[in-house]
Amino acid sequence: MADIPFHRPSISAEDISAVGQALASGWLTYGPLCQEFERVGAAPVFADIDPVSLQIDPDLVDRAWGERTKAVIAVDYGGHPCAIEEIAKLAADRGAVVISDAAHSLGAAVGARPVGSIADITAFSFYATKNITTGEGGMLTTASDVIADRVECLRMHGIGKNAWRRYRKGGSWRYDVAECGFKANMTDMQAALGLSQLRREAQIRERRAEIAAHYSASLASLGDLVELPVVAEGVRPAWHLYPLRLAGRAGGGRDRLVEDLADRGIGTSVHFIPVHLMTHFRKRYGYRGGEYPVCEDVFRRVLSLPLYADMSDAEADRVIEVVTDLVSAARG
Ligand SMILES: *Cc1c(COP(=O)(O)O)cnc(C)c1O
Repeated sequence: MADIPFHRPSISAEDISAVGQALASGWLTYGPLCQEFERVGAAPVFADIDPVSLQIDPDLVDRAWGERTKAVIAVDYGGHPCAIEEIAKLAADRGAVVISDAAHSLGAAVGARPVGSIADITAFSFYATKNITTGEGGMLTTASDVIADRVECLRMHGIGKNAWRRYRKGGSWRYDVAECGFKANMTDMQAALGLSQLRREAQIRERRAEIAAHYSASLASLGDLVELPVVAEGVRPAWHLYPLRLAGRAGGGRDRLVEDLADRGIGTSVHFIPVHLMTHFRKRYGYRGGEYPVCEDVFRRVLSLPLYADMSDAEADRVIEVVTDLVSAARG
């Protein structure tokens, strides 16, 4: 009887022939086949949003699910938590991981569960425009020690946890590179700002919520010319954005309204241009528009009003006054 080796690679006749063809092609090093192999990567599959919540629709995540789906990335648009519990359940049943993009939703909660404690991994951003900032930078939260240890290792060149201690008094000069990592650490200068900002997080969030409530109460007078952001039952949003949707051509249409508001000294922005309509995604995945009709429709009609903790009541009132004036005027 033949011996049983510990390991034997599975090489088929097709495998041998494929390598033979590569040798015969005369191209031995990096070339067209490497390019083709590199392109066999994870493909993002998008799911449309719900027209009321403006958040990713869990039923459409379910429908977009494929045999090779490994993870779901769900954004908390505007600071309102998405249907993360439904999505987490869907993913858990199928052995997939949920990564929550909570760049907008620091301090938000679903019932008693704060954002950051629900998904397998939650990513927060402390970019300059976010609710609290360190200039650039962010934070991941996870309940998994395995993921936490790995991320700590990867962010510091793969050197491993506590690598920074080697420059401290009594620290050892010895270190090991356990795997290929990144240089993705924050600085203590940023953390100083972060710690200071974090102390005011609740205060900042409450002020944002106050302004948002004032906007909603006042802009309700525009009736069906606009759609106001909806807060789901039992949810505490972080109010990163105040997205206002125009009905049809109200206010002369979104683009004109943005310009007219700017002329009257009110800065706005649009969140977001649908990612599948960006050049890269059109070229790489062949999107042509029309694939995600809800978010495309919302994109044409939405603008974000100024919303930040340091806004005065008088400033909020002026935004309301000018928006009301421009939207309610009958304009072509
Ligand atoms: C800002 C933002 C990010 C990225 O944050 P960075 O800290 O700049 O990497 C990711 N997702 C959303 C929805 C954001 O608004």
